[in-house]
Amino acid sequence: MDELPRCRGATWADVDRWADRLEAAIRDAGRPLPQTLVGLTRGGWVPTRLVADRLGIHRVVSLRAQHWGVTATPDGAAAVTEGLSGPVRGERVLVVDDITDTGESLRLAVEHVRAAGATSVESAAFLHIARASFRPTYWAEEIPRDAWVWVVFPWNYWEDLATLAAKAAELGPGLEAIRTSLRTRAGLDVPPADLERLARRLPALLG
Ligand code: AMP
Repeated sequence: MDELPRCRGATWADVDRWADRLEAAIRDAGRPLPQTLVGLTRGGWVPTRLVADRLGIHRVVSLRAQHWGVTATPDGAAAVTEGLSGPVRGERVLVVDDITDTGESLRLAVEHVRAAGATSVESAAFLHIARASFRPTYWAEEIPRDAWVWVVFPWNYWEDLATLAAKAAELGPGLEAIRTSLRTRAGLDVPPADLERLARRLPALLG
């Protein structure tokens, strides 16, 4: 069985704080604000929308870059699997994602947007893991390279929980055992009601 990854549960309050920090970093840089935001799907959508709101930017375009398959399992090389949902030629663009881990998704996305004719391309991520081979122009919080964690973002909560609970169930099924494994091995404190709700959909968790 794959090991349970170390996890960090992120709250909506964390998300709000990261969006505020990104806004401040972008404004403090003193450069002309972007005209279009490119949101990487799926992890970058909520961050993109929050940054667009704070900066007063109305144009948001989507781009799909895929790298990680199920929770905390890399899926080979990163690739752009669905192109830009709208044109960016002649635009000042900011590409936004939730986290740079290897950094490959954001690197590819920036190259893709540049090749599509944007005048300038900057990038931003809520979180930046220091091991990433690509450093975004702006980030809200840096995670040291030796402190790697899988961040359970609120917009990915049920998907991550399903994967992590299934892994934990291999160590010992039953909701109490799963909850204990998630807490002690993954560092994730999951409310019992959430596991009960998940088990209604995934009865195999009960053993
Ligand atoms: P990467 O290309 O490795 O920088 O990561 C691509 C995408 O996978 C990120 O935008 C996230 O949506 C997801 N991801 C990668 N690493 C993590 C992590 N440590 N925690 C949460 N999500 C991650």
